[in-house]
Amino acid sequence: MERGIDADFERFASRRELIHAFSGLAVLAATSQAGPAIFARRRLTGYPFTLGVASGDPRPDGAVLWTRLAPAPFGAEPISGPVNVDWQVATDSAFSRIAREGTAAAFPELAHSVHAEVAGLAADTEHFYRFRAAGEISATGRFRTVPDRSAQALAFAFVSCQKRTASGRYSSYLGLIDEGVDLVVHLGDYIYENRDIRELSDYRALYALYKSSPDLQAAHAACPFVVTFDDHEVENNYAGYHSLNAADTMALRRRRAAAYRAWYEHMPVPATALPYGSKLRVHRRIGFGDLAAFHVLDTRQHRDAPPCAPGMGPSIDGSLAVPVCTGREDPDRHILGADQEQWLRRSLADSRARWNVLANSVMMADFSTGGPVSPRLSGDTWAAYPAARGRLLRYLRDNRVSNPVVITGDAHANFVNDLRFGPGDIVAPEFVGTSISSPAKGQLLTEEQLSANPHCRYYSGDWRGYIRCDLTHGRVTMTLRVVVDPASSAAPAMTQAVFEVLDGDHYAERLD
Ligand code: FE
Ligand code: CA
Repeated sequence: MERGIDADFERFASRRELIHAFSGLAVLAATSQAGPAIFARRRLTGYPFTLGVASGDPRPDGAVLWTRLAPAPFGAEPISGPVNVDWQVATDSAFSRIAREGTAAAFPELAHSVHAEVAGLAADTEHFYRFRAAGEISATGRFRTVPDRSAQALAFAFVSCQKRTASGRYSSYLGLIDEGVDLVVHLGDYIYENRDIRELSDYRALYALYKSSPDLQAAHAACPFVVTFDDHEVENNYAGYHSLNAADTMALRRRRAAAYRAWYEHMPVPATALPYGSKLRVHRRIGFGDLAAFHVLDTRQHRDAPPCAPGMGPSIDGSLAVPVCTGREDPDRHILGADQEQWLRRSLADSRARWNVLANSVMMADFSTGGPVSPRLSGDTWAAYPAARGRLLRYLRDNRVSNPVVITGDAHANFVNDLRFGPGDIVAPEFVGTSISSPAKGQLLTEEQLSANPHCRYYSGDWRGYIRCDLTHGRVTMTLRVVVDPASSAAPAMTQAVFEVLDGDHYAERLD
């Protein structure tokens, strides 16, 4: 367990004030004729919007608008100081009806990224946005503000695990753009690090490589993303400050600081997610009127070391032989950390939404790949933290939380699971979405393994894709969409299966 969170947040608050002071300076520079010398008009060598635009965390009156000035994304940094970036939001794509405009500062300390938090817009309205810097204009992005109170319907999709394809193309994203959804929830593995990616400059270059994909840029331009992260944004299977490779544990704090900062620099997240050293706050709630609330979880940063970790017993390829790993059952073990766990209970208690969607990075249900005598579970999912899962499921059940639905990434396969508090006591459905492009993990599961996991209603590890979700007050419809060739620029998405959850049911039923 991590301690001293309060002290951390005090430091975090002062860091935020610093950034707001910076922003104030930028506004000053934009409104005065000459402006401070540091904001002198700069000539940028080349088109600066090479990594596209993005929006995120939509609200009834605004959203976060993101871009990054990168005239030479893979070369030496050509911009030396801060730069003013103008932004515009309109209700038409020709920008003839301007709703809001302003200026944000892009600082070299944050890789000249821009996170403009736009407010004052009309609720439940389609908006278009663009940026201007040094006489150049960015691509146009689109987002829809969310309904203020009553909402009848929402179409969103959730995605994860977008290992860069050799071509840089992502047919899953092309399919997703065609869906015309109003929101994408990204559950992590946005990039895949390797042992050579350790410094801030390495992570920045890796994000630039991923962000140079035209299909990923088009997906971000098409609709707002609500993002969290998983392990590969930092290091494979890390847990808190614990590295899978014991020799790396001392280096993980530095690596986390570099990786979290680069993550913030490239994601359309608000300033509340600004890192302070090796920590940042990712968990938050995104509302959608009375229809849905998204409780966005961080299952990496605060988790305790896995049982069977070095020094805790034998481990084979990250999985747990349960009888050996008795430490697994320790009631004090956390995957969210005590503070986030408390926040989640409050967030659920405060929610007045019909559907409470938990945006969750790693599988919450157990899945044993061993036999009944020697169950073998993943050491990297909630299966390694059963006490934490038990506390959450008990809370959902005892407080009659309205329609909890867990959406999950990481597995590179589609699963539909029952989350049970006890045998026969189904508390919530879990939908695990397959990867955008990352290959299937190891061997596909056998019929025998599946029948040993009766809480698993559906499994398919063959395909890449995403899950489309249609919400109304009466039901959630989950459409599992898959592509034949994830690296193609043409392959259409196909429907693999359709599941439905009715209001009050807490389990998924297959329709198609
Ligand atoms: Fe992955
Ligand atoms: Ca992962």
